[in-house]
Amino acid sequence: MKGRLREPSVALLEAAGLGPEQPGERALAFPCRNAPVDVLLVRAADVPEYVQDGVVDCGITGMDLVAERGARVRELLRLGFGACRLEVAVPEESGYDEIAQLEGATVATVYPRLTRELLPVNVELVDVTGSVELAPRLGLADAIVDLVSSGNTMRTNGLRSLGSLFSSEAALFGREGADADSLVSMLSTVVQARAHRYLMLNVSEANLGAVSAIVGGARAPSVVPLAEAGMVALHALVPAAEIWKLLPLLEAAGASSILVVPVERMVS
Ligand code: AMP
Repeated sequence: MKGRLREPSVALLEAAGLGPEQPGERALAFPCRNAPVDVLLVRAADVPEYVQDGVVDCGITGMDLVAERGARVRELLRLGFGACRLEVAVPEESGYDEIAQLEGATVATVYPRLTRELLPVNVELVDVTGSVELAPRLGLADAIVDLVSSGNTMRTNGLRSLGSLFSSEAALFGREGADADSLVSMLSTVVQARAHRYLMLNVSEANLGAVSAIVGGARAPSVVPLAEAGMVALHALVPAAEIWKLLPLLEAAGASSILVVPVERMVS
């Protein structure tokens, strides 16, 4: 988990209370203060083999890399960062409009295995080791298959996406048979918490039904009486991604004093 996954990975261990004792930016191995866990920083691309071969019990890396290696490891927990997509792209000015038209075309990628497996047409692969975005401009390929998160790099390089082949994020992987239950449950309390918000609001008893229906969700909200007659407070855990659409609906349904606060840990 060196490279772009390093910082969020160490931050996750910190948030889960393991107390990673990273002595400095250059340290490649360090222990955790509060748990019997030793952290080894290696390239994200090397993690699938390290886990598969039992060099380590668990590893954090991108799902794309594990799939590309075809590593025999178990996905234990998706971590909610490092999200990206493996996309097919062509130069802005090219005549291709859809993936199906790429039959017989040349495609540059550092993901040959996933490209062969997931592209529904036969193409000629051009192996490159980096700077895939340059391949079409250099006349090396008609199209590329590469990772995209914001899409900025593709746009900057005059490329246009024809579609996505694979969605990835960082995950914790374990070798077959490794006992990682306590690590998984510690990390998942944080991963789950980050994906939620604690919502508190006041509402009249008359509007409680409408407001509860908007909050919805699998977990029953708590309803607490307030000093003011006919008014109650409603507390509920809601998915963070839904907050933006819930707030205006709640206000319109008569909710007031709405507070949204982060959650630190969620235990099931
Ligand atoms: P690294 O080579 O260490 O920077 O890590 C590469 C991994 O980070 C990829 O295999 C992905 O799982 C993940 N990742 C997330 N967003 C991107 C992106 N925009 N470009 C490349 N890799 C990304």
